Amino acid sequence: VEIRSDEPVLVIGLGRFGASTAGQLDRQDREVLVVDTNPELVQKWADRVTHAVQADARSMEALEQIGADEFQIAVVATGASIEASVLIAANLVDLGVPQIWAKAISHSHGKILERIGVNHVIYPEREAGERVAHLLSGSMLDFIQFDDNYVIAKMYPPRSIRGRSLTDSGVRTRYRVTVVGVKAPGQPFTHATQDTVVSPHDLIIVSGTADDVERFATIG
Ligand code: ADP
Repeated sequence: VEIRSDEPVLVIGLGRFGASTAGQLDRQDREVLVVDTNPELVQKWADRVTHAVQADARSMEALEQIGADEFQIAVVATGASIEASVLIAANLVDLGVPQIWAKAISHSHGKILERIGVNHVIYPEREAGERVAHLLSGSMLDFIQFDDNYVIAKMYPPRSIRGRSLTDSGVRTRYRVTVVGVKAPGQPFTHATQDTVVSPHDLIIVSGTADDVERFATIG
């Protein structure tokens, strides 16, 4: 399914997760409909986002009334109740919403959401925890992990690749990672080439599989 990047988004649940999602979409001038059972929260959001509606999304009638079936993208951001999350997700699947993102609070919860037909299951706490572990354990300063185990990370260059060109230090063949960009202090990032020589105080951007990038970050 082709989803346009200016497609309106339905966000259900205005806890910390839903509020962050809706708030960021709003800052990007995206049309957002937020739904929550809590009238005070809905009131608070009413003058901020495009539309805010008080409704119980477990009810199919309620979802139909707010036109949930018109949306191409929905985010199920309800909190502690797995029952509510699963019911809401199932309703959205039945209404034919093609892109559904849902927050899971446990592995089983995520499995159920996937079985129902949710396309994107998010584990915010697990992901945040893994992220902290990565940042604490290696010399990675920041990283993004993609679904297919592909990682892009920012780090200081390991000692063994400093002072030589990327070809000479054999980064690709020895460590199976690619140095994508290099940044000298006070300079912007530039794309790395085979002839780029990395200095000790440079920052580098590296891509590869999670295992290879992690190993590379800790070789010293
Ligand atoms: P978080 O962990 O993201 O902070 P919370 O549990 O605090 O999550 O918030 C979840 C939000 O979802 C609450 O504001 C709650 O009122 C809302 N919510 C829960 N059940 C429903 C439902 N059936 N329909 C709509 N909103 C709901």
